[in-house]
This record gives sequence, structure tokens and C-alpha cells, in this order.
Amino acid sequence: MKKHNYSAGPCILPQEVFQEASQAVLDFNNTGLSILEISHRSKEFVDVMEEARNLALELLGLEGKGYKALFLQGGASTQFLMVAYNLLQVKAGYLNTGAWSTKAIKEAKLFGDVAEVASSADKDFRYIPKGYFIPSDVDYFHCTSNNTIYGTQIKEFPNTPKPIVCDMSSDIFSRELDFSKFDLIYAGAQKNLGPAGTTLVVIKEDILGKVERSIPSMMDYKIHINKASMFNTPAVFAVYTSMLTLRWIKKNGGIAAMEERNEKKAALLYSEIDINPLFQGYADKKDRSTMNATFTLLNDDLKETFDTMWKEAGVNGLNGHRSVGGYRASMYNALPLESVQVLVDVMSELERKA
Ligand SMILES: *Cc1c(COP(=O)(O)O)cnc(C)c1O
Repeated sequence: MKKHNYSAGPCILPQEVFQEASQAVLDFNNTGLSILEISHRSKEFVDVMEEARNLALELLGLEGKGYKALFLQGGASTQFLMVAYNLLQVKAGYLNTGAWSTKAIKEAKLFGDVAEVASSADKDFRYIPKGYFIPSDVDYFHCTSNNTIYGTQIKEFPNTPKPIVCDMSSDIFSRELDFSKFDLIYAGAQKNLGPAGTTLVVIKEDILGKVERSIPSMMDYKIHINKASMFNTPAVFAVYTSMLTLRWIKKNGGIAAMEERNEKKAALLYSEIDINPLFQGYADKKDRSTMNATFTLLNDDLKETFDTMWKEAGVNGLNGHRSVGGYRASMYNALPLESVQVLVDVMSELERKA
């Protein structure tokens, strides 16, 4: 039986995407070849790559606005350094909202100065700093839209004339935003888009070419743009599966419809966390993520019972990140509302039993 999969990443994808992708492993579009064995230079795959890049821009509302979409390798973690390699001449401003931001800052420091414009480290990253000042001498400002580990999410992005770079790994395509506010968006596919192995990068082209250093080809956004994301062999299967997910998003009403579903799911779970005296939310209420809900069980003696109950109900992947503990329910686009109901029922059943 299919599990109610709350895994933080790699994570649940739409069931029909799993089906189509598995079919393509056996026979891709009646070519008599597997998606795993066709040439990445074949017309069939070039079409896949183009459709994936176009759908990404279309869904984000960025078509014809000077943006290019790329599917690169090396995960979001490679973007931590690639962003700085391509954009950091002297100094960059970073908002520190947790482990992923901290790692991005560490990499950027290899290329220039980093001004940490604000940090929520003082309260274990339970909140999103607000009202901070972005210095006028930075080359760009970097933030993390959704903090997968702590369950916090930026609701309002700052206004700055500087390019905004955003790590949207765990909430891309989950909510409507004015994406044209951002100059570079990156997201490891395995959180809301596809299997691990590819990273979506969306770049406003005119921010490139401003640093003086020479950039190795694989690290150079311009080269990847000029080569239409085919400078070297792309992660063929991961790109194909991501394309299927993008088609699924479009067919099901686009980002607006995803957002509506995600808000319903989050509201259902958070209201149980707040109403049930056995549980406590981890993140500040106003900064709560619709993607990753973090919470703790107040009475440790009930842990074994609770863990047994949710596992028996078919729930998977509910343990919190090792650095935070407790529980984390990741409710990415493909997780159905019914799965959230199953978890909420287990939580209220535990209250009745306790
Ligand atoms: C998972 C995650 C990353 C790291 O992604 P990789 O693809 O494993 O390198 C970076 N940022 C955020 C916000 C994440 O959730």
C-alpha cells in the first residue's frame, strides 16, 4: 500500500508522475528505447529539456522577461558556491535563517566579503528576521525562502535595488509570488519537483558578466545558458521526471492551485498542533512554513506509542531533522490532503488515549 509520505527530501511526487517515469524507463515515447539509454543529443531528449525549461519559466510567470532556466547538477549545495563565483565581486549581503543559509555564507566567503544582514540564530532559527537593512554596497542579497529544517518561511521579501538571489529548494512552485522580484532562483529538484540529481536555476541574464575573475566552464552560468543547459551530459532521468511534474502542476491549475491546496493542508495540521495539548509547534506562528511543519511531543513517555501509531497508519518520514529533533511533516505539492487527515486523526487519537 502507498505510504503517506512526509519525507523532507527526496520526497513524494505525484503518483501519475511515478507511473509515467517508470514507463519511460522501459520504453520512452514508443521509441523502443529506455529514457536511460537515449542520447541526450537526440531530438526526443532535447525536446524534453526545452519543455522543462519553458514550463519552469511559464509557471513562474517569467516568460519574455529576460530570464533563462537551467537544469544543472551538484544540488543546491553547488549553487551556494556557483552564485558567489558568478556574482560576488567585492561584497554580498546574506540573511541567515538556518543551516542552509549558513552553508551558503560559508561558500560565499571564499569569493569575497559577506555581510550577514540579520540572523535568527539567537533563537535556534525559530523565526524569520524582519526590518533589517541591506547595505548599498553589496553585489547582491541572498536569502532562503523556506527553511526546511526549522519549518520557517519568508512571507514578505525585502525591497532592494540590488539583485535578489533566493534558495527556493523546498518551496518552489508551492505558492504564488512575484517571481520577477528575484534575479536568481535556485532549487534542488528533490524537494518539490523531481528526483535528486538536478537543480533548477532561473537567472535574469543581465546580472551576469559583472565579475572580473575567470570562471571554470562548469561553474559559469553564461556557458550553461549558451549551451541551452546541455554543456555536458545532463541528469537525463531527473530532468525528464521534473518535466513530468511541471506538466502535472500546469494541468492541475498551476502554482495558484498548488498554493490553495498547500494552505488547506497546512491549516489542517497546524490547527491540530495548536489545539492538541500533547503537541507544541517549533517555529513562531507568523513565520510557519506551509511546506514543513515542525513540532514536538511534550511528554516523552508517549513517544513510543505515538511512533507506533503513525507508522501503523501508513505514515512515513515524520522524524524531525537530527539537529532539531521532534517531528517534521513535509507537505510538498504532491502530498494529498487525505494524508494530512490521516496524521491529524492519529494525533487526536493519541490525545484520547493519553
Ligand atoms: C535540501 C536543501 C538544500 C540542499 O540541497 P542539495 O540538493 O542536497 O544540495 C539547500 N537548501 C535548502 C533550502 C534545502 O532544503
